[in-house]
Amino acid sequence: MTDRPNRPETLIRRLGLKESVSRPVVTPIHPSVVYASPSPDALDGQYEGKTHGYTYAREGHPNADLLAAKIDMLEGGQGGLITGSGMAAVSAVLLGLLKSGDHVIGGDQLYGRSLRMMTQDLPRFGIETSLVDPTDAEAVAAAVRPETKLILVEVVSNPTLRVADMAGIAAVAKAKGVLLAVDNTFTTPIAYRPFDHGADITVHSVTKLLAGHSDVTLGYVSARDDELMDAMRVFAVTTGMTPSPNECWLAERGLFTFPLRFEKAQANAAELADFLASQPGVKRVLYPGRKDHPDHARASALLNGHFGNMVSFEIEGGRAQTNALVEAMPDMAFAPTLGDVGTTLSHPATSSHRALSVEDRAALGMSEGFFRISVGIEDIDLLKGDFAAGCAAASQI
Ligand SMILES: *Cc1c(COP(=O)(O)O)cnc(C)c1O
Repeated sequence: MTDRPNRPETLIRRLGLKESVSRPVVTPIHPSVVYASPSPDALDGQYEGKTHGYTYAREGHPNADLLAAKIDMLEGGQGGLITGSGMAAVSAVLLGLLKSGDHVIGGDQLYGRSLRMMTQDLPRFGIETSLVDPTDAEAVAAAVRPETKLILVEVVSNPTLRVADMAGIAAVAKAKGVLLAVDNTFTTPIAYRPFDHGADITVHSVTKLLAGHSDVTLGYVSARDDELMDAMRVFAVTTGMTPSPNECWLAERGLFTFPLRFEKAQANAAELADFLASQPGVKRVLYPGRKDHPDHARASALLNGHFGNMVSFEIEGGRAQTNALVEAMPDMAFAPTLGDVGTTLSHPATSSHRALSVEDRAALGMSEGFFRISVGIEDIDLLKGDFAAGCAAASQI
């Protein structure tokens, strides 16, 4: 090196890491966009799948692959793909697998952007959507047409936490030869594994419970069938849905504590749901683990005792009361997300469901006084104190 002192930029680029006989215990981050292959023959081998090697990060990189493999393990899937957001994963399913002339069926309370894609965007590509109540498998069966290709459902709906008739829908999908895609974001593989119950495709917003710290947006999609998976992977690579290595690494770190966080948040949710039901001005509490939940029996059969960390409740009154409740809980994050390690409170009428008319929200069971809580892992007494203050303030108006 000393003989080429006039080429510092070249030397800086070429000097690599020293080899180490010991290994890092934490996954290294691989930010490299490009990968150098030893020869054209070797590169052929990579592209033909004879050897494993990366080429260009949009086509795949180690941090995304490792995260996908870990979620595959949790879901009982294989060959899953990480995308730059949950919506990218939903898009990979809907746009990567459907074509003009196809028909798709969606749950009528899907995540807002999924609904928007199905009702606003798919029609531009000549794909029709029917929305149906997923608690009613007969309604799903009745919506199937000869050109129906796919059913997309969430196991637990947002924000009314209705539980879909997954067994009934899976039976319909099988009998009619229609693909069943399940967005498993709310339930997570701890409560429900779609592949174990007849799903063809599993989707996640990794942003939520799996990563768990509200510091990354990522998605996951996996299909049981290799051809379907290849079609989605090629579409995702072509449309640039690729996640960043840094975000994959953060999500992997979040995933280490996911089972612990989920169990704790769920235990808190069950206790908080019962507590809320005893508070002044609370009209109703929705939690699938409570006996008064309309789908409690189904949730018990489906979720194996894992009723999740989401609780919804409704208070008496209108905007004055909802403002009072939120303002009396200044330490609570009033934010329309879910799955964070900390509890977040959302108000569908002014956030996720603000585009709907008052009547349309009422039809879905949401009034102005309707709130949704994503329960976190805080001390339960602290949470009870917050909500007691909020409910008291609202009920005193
Ligand atoms: C948040 C969410 C999505 C979208 O995920 P992003 O990571 O925000 O793109 C999809 N489905 C459900 C159920 C969600 O909660």
